Amino acid sequence: MNLQQLVRKNVWDMKAYSSARDEFKGEASVFLDANENPLNDKYNRYPDPLQWKLKEKIARIKDIKAEKIFLGNGSDEPIDLVIRIFCDPRMDNIVAIDPTYGMYQVCANVNDIEYRKVLLNENFDIDAQKILERTDDKTKLIFLCSPNNPTGNLLNRKEIEKILNAFDGIVIVDEAYIDFASETTWLNDLDKHPNLVVLQTFSKAWGLAAVRLGMAFASPEIINLFNKVKYPYNVNILTQNFVSEEVEKLELRRQWIDILLKGREYLKNELAKLPFVERIYPTDANFLLVKVGDANGIYKKLADKGVIVRNRNSVSLCAGCLRITVGTDEENKTLIKTLSSLDI
Ligand code: PMP
Repeated sequence: MNLQQLVRKNVWDMKAYSSARDEFKGEASVFLDANENPLNDKYNRYPDPLQWKLKEKIARIKDIKAEKIFLGNGSDEPIDLVIRIFCDPRMDNIVAIDPTYGMYQVCANVNDIEYRKVLLNENFDIDAQKILERTDDKTKLIFLCSPNNPTGNLLNRKEIEKILNAFDGIVIVDEAYIDFASETTWLNDLDKHPNLVVLQTFSKAWGLAAVRLGMAFASPEIINLFNKVKYPYNVNILTQNFVSEEVEKLELRRQWIDILLKGREYLKNELAKLPFVERIYPTDANFLLVKVGDANGIYKKLADKGVIVRNRNSVSLCAGCLRITVGTDEENKTLIKTLSSLDI
């Protein structure tokens, strides 16, 4: 892979914005270099633009070098950035699986990049050959999501590997739900595949969706490109400090995952007993895709009773399906009770 050939010329050639904090990194007694207000101690100073302290902590947990980590405002930020780094508007294209997480297409549209969808097979899995056939010399990125949203399943590892080996561009594997999965992350394969970008997030298993912190993992060369195009202070100090404490709570997080996996099992068993449930798809995420037939009707009846699930009826291959997130034990019971009481 020739990184320079893949990256947009303007991005490759440009100089990144250099902030006061980039130009002087050491300790000093008087800081008069960033036009900050000196009178509101604690929050008056710009934060570390590259969030090194937090990255060092994440690096330890993930057993990866901090230089291979990018942190953003949710993983939605690196999704947008990777497109802006590699894809020339109205010239390049992106190939992605269908159905999948909607933001890949939204970001492609915003950036005026052709977005090519490759339908998953009947098991919601990929065929590497089919995906590769949709690429051409203008394809810069392939988006894969494993476990996939909204289908919940892991994509076949061997097929992902084939794509990584055969494709000359960047392959993004979005692992937002990997902590709930029975297989391990692709993080350990970054050295083997210099074209791999792995996305993870604090919004799911870590229970921090409101805090907005997402991670991209890739070679230091690719991470440098992310750093070049991001806003200078893209992760605020409240998030940096708060998550620095939260990442210590590994045991608590493990317990939460246990609880949610048990909740998933409970929902699977109870949903299977309902007469209108036609199919519960295998899942490796914290949600279940459930085929109910009249998804619109059941969605509406549930919503009328104050229970909101996601109606995926109009999504490719998901006609008649609801996507149900695993909640607390109480929420799960309420869902099942409400579904059982529906007049269908
Ligand atoms: N990837 C996938 C597959 C998702 O489902 C989501 C959120 N639903 C995200 C990324 C974005 O997560 P966040 O921006 O909260 O990190």
